[in-house]
Amino acid sequence: MPGLKAASFPIQLRDLFKLLDRHSDEEIKDAIVSENFSSRLNLPTKIGRLIAIYPNIWTDIGWYISIRKSLHVDNFPCVHIAYATSAKANRSIVEEHGVFSILTGNKRSEKLVIAFCPWCAIGLNTDASQRLKHPKSE
Ligand SMILES: [Zn+2]
Repeated sequence: MPGLKAASFPIQLRDLFKLLDRHSDEEIKDAIVSENFSSRLNLPTKIGRLIAIYPNIWTDIGWYISIRKSLHVDNFPCVHIAYATSAKANRSIVEEHGVFSILTGNKRSEKLVIAFCPWCAIGLNTDASQRLKHPKSE
């Protein structure tokens, strides 16, 4: 199996999501239960391989189709952070000045900044003055 860098997953997922946007929620759900997902949706071989090896692909696809009409996933570091900030997930992660936090209490001020996505471990910006930049690993 060719070595895939973890950091390349979100980029390839974005390619998959763009292809899924050609299909309705119903077509995607039918393709999932058909167990012939890639060919039902005419996905390229490269994307089919990603689906075969990516551990949480069905959750990611489900999350994507549940939020794609209400927000632009491309505006977030990954689909997980996008989903967690949505009403579907009770806005359990909040974004302020490009920094993401998990709420720890009832007040908006009770929160912890997160440096990595809890699902895919992509690095997140933790400095409000460095909006849109990802932290460098040191
Ligand atoms: Zn993620």
